Amino acid sequence: MLQTSETLNRVSESATIKMAQLSRELSAKGVNVISLSLGEPDFHTPKHIKEAAKQAIDSGKYDSYSPIAGYADLKQAICDKFKRDNHLDFKPENIVVSTGAKQSLANIFISFLNEGDEVIIPAPYWVSYPEQVKLCNATPVYIHTYVDSDFKMTAEQLEKAITPKTKFLVYSSPSNPTGSVYTKEELESFVKVLEKHPHVYVISDEIYEHIIYTGEHVSIAQFPSMKDRTIIVNGQAKGYAMTGWRIGYMAAPAYIAKACDKLQGQITSGANSVAQHATVTALLGDQQPTADMRDQFLKRRDIVLALLKEIPNIKCNEPCGAFYVFPDLSAYFGKIFNGEPIKDADDLALYLLHEGHVAAVSGAGFGAPECVRFSYAASEDDLKEAFKRVKNALEKLK
Ligand code: PMP
Ligand code: GLU
Repeated sequence: MLQTSETLNRVSESATIKMAQLSRELSAKGVNVISLSLGEPDFHTPKHIKEAAKQAIDSGKYDSYSPIAGYADLKQAICDKFKRDNHLDFKPENIVVSTGAKQSLANIFISFLNEGDEVIIPAPYWVSYPEQVKLCNATPVYIHTYVDSDFKMTAEQLEKAITPKTKFLVYSSPSNPTGSVYTKEELESFVKVLEKHPHVYVISDEIYEHIIYTGEHVSIAQFPSMKDRTIIVNGQAKGYAMTGWRIGYMAAPAYIAKACDKLQGQITSGANSVAQHATVTALLGDQQPTADMRDQFLKRRDIVLALLKEIPNIKCNEPCGAFYVFPDLSAYFGKIFNGEPIKDADDLALYLLHEGHVAAVSGAGFGAPECVRFSYAASEDDLKEAFKRVKNALEKLK
């Protein structure tokens, strides 16, 4: 039998994808599971974007391989988006379009990390950051943050974590899984630290930029001293309800983009041609559906926060963006069900799935083993029913 490689052995399975799979398996057995596990909008892709894809197919112009780093018109549309939404000037040579933001991140890590390099990752983090870093034989360095401080790292923590081996700082704001959003002032305090350590580059994952409830999204690349040291990662999945279309992109200094272009040319080639064409329409066309989805998510966030308040012994921050709540449920660890203890968040997530028929993701994979992540990208009825089930299930624990 073939032995898997040391590279693969260093990596864990994606916790989000694993839970979604378990939930699908239980549903397939006829159990009525409400899935709040996988982070994806429950909305359909807006109609005008689908129409653009249909036209692209019928035109016959999109049957061939696409350019590795993306079509010229899409790269220009992305530059226009950065100007319009983020007041940032990029040229097409700064852009690489990929098969999802996940690939954009992998391109960056594989292109620039060597064994022994350190990557600072504030925890809670999105599950794939440390695993991709480990894939490159580099070392994740975690900064722990907690619910009481809205899961935000401080400039002092950042400064302490930097060593001569630090290559990147990577975070998402709005954050998956906490929904926290760094303010301009907070980012400025990080910039002051980073200015003292010019060897550290930032990977700013802005995939939730349009799902924000506190005003305009701020990118660390907007600070002039950071523009040439920041790689912005973004994509169509969340803000445009296009998870399955698999389009992500990065914006970076041209030499960084060129390196990722070279790597992608050996791994996947250019992203799906039809989806790229539809993305031009998504980025330059009507932005109202994106704003409407954001408004819906905000309404649901408030419903979910109110429902969580009815459950005793839960600590939860108020998410300012994205579509997750990430309550600290550690008060329930050590309680007993059917003679078996619920030891940790993994046990609790499995208990909620099997007893409550609600799929959520243990915080362990996000670097916060005291928490469980629930996505509120679901209908209001499903959310109300789901949190009723969670409350009932938790009440059964003695
Ligand atoms: N970054 C974050 C913070 C995410 O939540 C996700 C999950 N969608 C991604 C990146 C990857 O996005 P994509 O689906 O475009 O690969
Ligand atoms: N990013 C989403 C999540 O956090 C989708 C799953 C994944 O790509 O890991 O659930």
